[in-house]
Amino acid sequence: MVAPGSRGQLGEHVGARVHFMFTEDDLLPLSGLQHLAFCERQWALIHLEQQWAESRLTAEGRELHGRTDEPGEHWEEGVLVLRAVPIRSLRLGLSGKADVVEVRDLPNGAREFRPVEYKRGRPKPDRCDEVQLCAQALCLEEMLGVTVASADLFYAQPRRRLTVILDAALRAETERLAARMQQLFRERAAPAAVPSEKCRACSLEGLCLPGAGRRRASRYLQSAVSEALHSAE
Ligand code: SF4
Repeated sequence: MVAPGSRGQLGEHVGARVHFMFTEDDLLPLSGLQHLAFCERQWALIHLEQQWAESRLTAEGRELHGRTDEPGEHWEEGVLVLRAVPIRSLRLGLSGKADVVEVRDLPNGAREFRPVEYKRGRPKPDRCDEVQLCAQALCLEEMLGVTVASADLFYAQPRRRLTVILDAALRAETERLAARMQQLFRERAAPAAVPSEKCRACSLEGLCLPGAGRRRASRYLQSAVSEALHSAE
């Protein structure tokens, strides 16, 4: 049985030799990984330019998270359920909160730490949610010196819980995106829009105006040439 008060054990793991690349001041929001995995420009608009367009999807997602954003802990059938758990990785340069971390003692004497991320809607065709979940697991591994082999995504519509195996490919993609986020943050430049099918599901489409940049640039060039020719007459 997990001992009451185990929440306090979510602190530093000091035994392992881990090469930390970042300091606390360098850490970027872990939640940004899902935006970056979806579209680099979306991440930049939200996290560099602080633009955020409320859509029905984001509003409902916020409402769903509201229930797991309140820190606390309770027991469910011998499992300690921690809510809104602060996490961070100095190796990846990320910090944030895990919606839920379940702590259970296994029959073999090991203790399992299992992140559970709550999502509105149904599973997506891309790996955005899985990347965010994997990043939470990597944070826990670094903080606690444990291995998190799998974690869960809970979808609200329909209500179901899916297990995600944190394999080498998912870990590599998560680490690549974390490094890319740090690079984009250092460069402080929003990538140009690359219009695609997913723009229609993007809450920032009205602000981003994908495709308009090229038209604006083209009009600007035509206008500039026209003005130059006119003044030379
Ligand atoms: S509208 Fe398209 S290009 Fe712009 S941020 Fe959204 S997904 Fe990216």
